[in-house]
Amino acid sequence: GGADLECDMLVLGAGPGGYSAAFRAADLGMKVVLVERYATLGGVCLNVGCIPSKALLHVAAVMDEVSHFEALGISYGKPKVELDKLRAHKAKVVGKLTGGLSAMAKMRKVTVVRGLGQFVDPYHLQVEETSGAALEKTGKKQTIKFRNAIIAAGSQAVQLPFMPKDPRVVDSTGALELAGNPKRMLILGGGIIGLEMGTVYSTLGARLDVVEMLDGLMQGADRDLVRVWQKMNTPRFDNIMLKTKTVGAEATKDGILVKFEGEQAPKEPQLYDLVLQAVGRSPNGKKIGAEKAGVTVSDRGFIPVDIQMRTNVPHIFAIGDIVGQPMLAHKAVHEAHVAAEVAAGENSAFNARVIPSVAYTDPEVAWVGLTEDQAKAQGIAIKKGHFPWTASGRAIANTRDEGFTKLLFDAQTHRILGGGIVGTHAGDMIGEVALAIEMGADEIDIGKTIHPHPTLGESIGMAAEIAHGTCTDVP
Ligand code: FAD
Repeated sequence: GGADLECDMLVLGAGPGGYSAAFRAADLGMKVVLVERYATLGGVCLNVGCIPSKALLHVAAVMDEVSHFEALGISYGKPKVELDKLRAHKAKVVGKLTGGLSAMAKMRKVTVVRGLGQFVDPYHLQVEETSGAALEKTGKKQTIKFRNAIIAAGSQAVQLPFMPKDPRVVDSTGALELAGNPKRMLILGGGIIGLEMGTVYSTLGARLDVVEMLDGLMQGADRDLVRVWQKMNTPRFDNIMLKTKTVGAEATKDGILVKFEGEQAPKEPQLYDLVLQAVGRSPNGKKIGAEKAGVTVSDRGFIPVDIQMRTNVPHIFAIGDIVGQPMLAHKAVHEAHVAAEVAAGENSAFNARVIPSVAYTDPEVAWVGLTEDQAKAQGIAIKKGHFPWTASGRAIANTRDEGFTKLLFDAQTHRILGGGIVGTHAGDMIGEVALAIEMGADEIDIGKTIHPHPTLGESIGMAAEIAHGTCTDVP
């Protein structure tokens, strides 16, 4: 059939997965077309995810930090918040990065096509041009013929069916718009995204409630890490409702009236100025015409792939949130490189041993590899090195010694299996633990590596020495 455009590699979706795949494919000599329905590149992560949330979290962390300075002899008075300027700052951060991506696409001669893509058969994608933030259809259509394709169409926030359509009910995208200054906010779902956004709103003046179906916040992390975060953050909350769920909600003049059921449900419905739905994200697998290309999609909308990121159709790959958990940008980027390389004939495969997780709350919570809970559940004998930051000169100097660093080693081989850090900058430090796991490092490798003093990173060396029984710095 007739095609308006032909390419070696078609990439559908320009998030961290899609743009990384497109750039790597272009670097490997392929003629690449990148299709994205929004005006900017960067997907969820750059536009409405990782980056804008961190821009706001940075501001919140600084505000919280200086709010404790009076005790140190420094006072600034009550903060004055100008949401317009804060929004502009966030937009500038995002713009810098998405603009950078456009420039990089141009440099590599990646053709960016704006519009909604749908497969029409295993070798053609139809793109309906979209315009504006609401993705209005302009009516212009074109067909792209491809030799290989990488599906990187990502995911979107799950909406609870009984939630009223109301500007006071938002998902993370809505919350990032900072449309108002709520006094009472409900976070639906006690995962990382909800707690990060809650941190921002609480610092800006909101009182928080959180409701979580499971028995703890920040599932996946060991409870000892979460406990440190929770102790510091309890003052932000009026109500932490665990083993509880939302069963109904109604928009009223005074707010959103929410009903709860479960172990810690309040008897009366509660009224909120803002309700943030952060109950998970669902993959976009069923919205791209995958069946026309013969690509298998699971009931939940995920696209199954092998370790080379191939779908059941050998010349069509899939990467990122759309292929499964963990839905993280760094996983998407890594998978993107594998897919592009395999399509170019290289023998790459996704064989990362571990993928780190970070909650960029205050303090940060970061973990990688085996957790203590998993070790227990799987009956794996471990040796633990636990270094409390009350023994870290740097943490004390920073007036932030609430955290700790722990490393878990195989009791037999002494090789590192996992680690967790809670404290300021934990996310920046966890990469070293990931590297140690990838390298098969043991207690001595890590403990005898000279870390600069005084740094928080030293705590990683200390934790290894503690596991090894050679630490002299902890009472
Ligand atoms: P996406 O980023 O979802 O990109 C998919 C792209 O495909 C989108 O731009 C979409 O418009 C486009 N698309 C979809 N269908 C079509 C179609 N039919 N036609 C054309 N275009 C289409 N991860 C981290 O690692 N660290 C963090 O700190 C972090 N913070 C987050 C904070 C929030 C609030 C949220 C919501 C997510 C966060 N994440 C974070 C997760 C991260 O954003 C995702 O894992 C990542 O964006 C996934 O990348 P992706 O390329 O798979 O898909």
